[in-house]
Amino acid sequence: MRGTLVVGNWKMNGGLAANAALLSALVDGWRAAPGRRIALCVPYPYLAQANSALATSTIAWGAQDVSEHASGAYTGEVSAGMLAEFGCRYVIVGHSERRQFYGDTDAVVAAKAVAALAAGLTPIACVGETLAERDAGATVAVVRRQLDAVLAAVGADASLLVVAYEPVWAIGTGRTASPDQAQAVHATLRARLTQAGAADVALLYGGSVKADNAQALFAMADIDGGLIGGASLKSAEFLAIARA
Ligand code: PEP
Repeated sequence: MRGTLVVGNWKMNGGLAANAALLSALVDGWRAAPGRRIALCVPYPYLAQANSALATSTIAWGAQDVSEHASGAYTGEVSAGMLAEFGCRYVIVGHSERRQFYGDTDAVVAAKAVAALAAGLTPIACVGETLAERDAGATVAVVRRQLDAVLAAVGADASLLVVAYEPVWAIGTGRTASPDQAQAVHATLRARLTQAGAADVALLYGGSVKADNAQALFAMADIDGGLIGGASLKSAEFLAIARA
C-alpha cells in the first residue's frame, strides 16, 4: 500500500530505560494523519516492551530479521509465528548487514519473506548495491536480482511486501544517495513490481536519511518513505523525518 511509511531500524541498540524514554517520546509526539504510517523495528528482547508501550498508539512495530523455518532445531532463531504471536506487524528481511555479516543469500532472504507472509507479517525486503557494484555500473542488475529472488518466491503475494532500496555505501556512512540517484533506482524497482502486479507496494529509501534530507528524498515520485537507522534512535529527529 502506497502512502508515506517511515520505519525505524534500531539495529542492535537500546536498553530498557533508554527504550522506555524513546518510546514514550514517540507516542507523545506522533500525530497520525491519513496516509502516514510509522513503525519501529526493534531487537527481539524488546518486542514485548514495544508491544506494551505502543499498544494505545498508531505506531506499529516489528523485528529486524526472522528465521526461514517455521519451528524446530534451529538454535538461536526466531520464527515468524513467534513474532506474530507478539502482535508484530513488520519484519525486515535481507538487510545488507545480514547479507554481509550473516551470509543471508538471495535465496535465504526470499525464504524469510515467504515465512513472514505465511505468518501474516509484512516483510520489508531490502535491496541495495555496494559501492564497488555501483562503480562497476551494476546497480540495476544487483537490485533487480535481489528483488526478483523475492518476487519469484512470494508469487501472487507480491503486493503484500514493502521494499526498501538501501545502497550499502550510504548505510551509516553519512553519505546519502541524491534524490535523483535514489529515484532512478526506485523507478526501476517500481517498473519491476508493476510487471509483477504489485505497483502499489510501498518503496522506501534507506541510507543516512536525516531530518534535513528526508523531504527532498520523499518528494520523489517513486519514494514512499524511508527505512531509518541511526536517526531513529533520536525521537525528535525521527519524528521530523516521519513528518517530512
Ligand atoms: C539502515 O540500517 O537500514 C539504515 C538505513 O541506516 P542509517 O539510516 O543509519 O544509514
